[in-house]
Amino acid sequence: MDLMEKIVSLCKRRGFIYPGSEIYGGLQGFWDYGPLGVELKNNIKKEWWKSMVYQRNDVVGLDAAIIMNPTVWEASGHTQAFTDPLVECKSCHHRFRADQLVGSQCPDCDGQLTEPKIFNLLTEVYLGSTEPKTKTYLRGEITQGVFVNFKNVVDSSRVEIPFGIAQIGKAFRNEITPGNFTFRSREFEQMELEFFVKPDENEAERWFLYWRQMRIEWYEKLGIKKENLRFREHSLDERAHYARKAEDIEYNSPFGWKEFEGIHHRGDWDLSRHKLTYKDYTPWVIETSGGVDRATLFFLLDSYSEVGDRVVLKLHPKLAPYKVAVFPLVANKENLVNKAKEIYKNLKSVTVTLTVTFDDRGNIGKRYYAQDEIGTPWCVTVDYQTLEDDTVTVRDRDTAQQERVSVSQLDSFFASKLN
Ligand code: ATP
Repeated sequence: MDLMEKIVSLCKRRGFIYPGSEIYGGLQGFWDYGPLGVELKNNIKKEWWKSMVYQRNDVVGLDAAIIMNPTVWEASGHTQAFTDPLVECKSCHHRFRADQLVGSQCPDCDGQLTEPKIFNLLTEVYLGSTEPKTKTYLRGEITQGVFVNFKNVVDSSRVEIPFGIAQIGKAFRNEITPGNFTFRSREFEQMELEFFVKPDENEAERWFLYWRQMRIEWYEKLGIKKENLRFREHSLDERAHYARKAEDIEYNSPFGWKEFEGIHHRGDWDLSRHKLTYKDYTPWVIETSGGVDRATLFFLLDSYSEVGDRVVLKLHPKLAPYKVAVFPLVANKENLVNKAKEIYKNLKSVTVTLTVTFDDRGNIGKRYYAQDEIGTPWCVTVDYQTLEDDTVTVRDRDTAQQERVSVSQLDSFFASKLN
């Protein structure tokens, strides 16, 4: 099995990610996050929000509606320019994105391809109960929700340029070729910052470089290996219709170096299209636009390792779905099980930053392995010594080393590890 197959299978088996609508045969480009996946994804979003909003005084948050007045998409240029070139094979009728094809023949059957057609990625929706219904779109990027609220935010909060608006939310694209697991989906989440600056090249350049650095460091701090990250500047012809300058942060994935975040200099494109100004000028925008699902996938890929026949997900503790698992050394000794349950309950109730799980199935070795595989950084085991001196063993996922910690200190022990 190659790494991608291992990750897809681990995700399904352990409850990270399932194919969407699976019992009805699935739906291409849609995925559901299971009990562990939702924790991992939430932790990524939490860390992003912490670094982009809570730890700063020049960024505020927003949560705009997914469906907007269709005029927004006319003004933003998306009904016209949010397109990919589509080609179809004349023999097998499979469809492809022309800009992603390597040769000039169909990659599936070597058949002849049609000339590229412009294909719009916006997903149409129809609203209302009487005909004709109002046609609008599921948002193709979360960005426009920020721009149309620019004036609201300026008028209702005490922001002054330079400042940013951060948002996390779902976006939808009718992708021609969804694939590579969650990498290219039709429904996905974005985490974006629109940072408004004075309309000045030096100012824009300074902030572009600043945010580009902040963003790559964020991934490094959360454990992505440096050698698997790089920047790639967009050439003129690949830039989106709104971008004056664009650089991607790419990850060295099993299917090649791939974008998972874009840093864009959008100039005054959006605000001037929406006829919005600040004081007597139209600000420029530096944008950082990342994908939550792509980040989730790359954090999983990057942390996957095998030690002998053991699978260890070396997720950063801040991202791990469970921080701590609590076990009794053996399952059929009531006093050990009760003590372990008591410790589990206490840990669960005293701290908000810990997610704790309990397991008393199988033998202790298997339980350690099961936690390694989902990235739990620490396992607490209650043994006979616990009953005598109120200490437990704490096993570290990455070193497999154990140390004895007193039960009353567990809470602060994990708190200090997590910070
Ligand atoms: P691509 O060239 O891969 O289609 P893009 O350049 O169109 O991506 P942007 O419009 O810059 O992507 O979107 C910003 C971020 O949103 C991307 O870096 C990515 O993380 C995420 N994203 C975009 N399209 C998808 C998708 N179909 N599935 C999952 N995530 C996506």
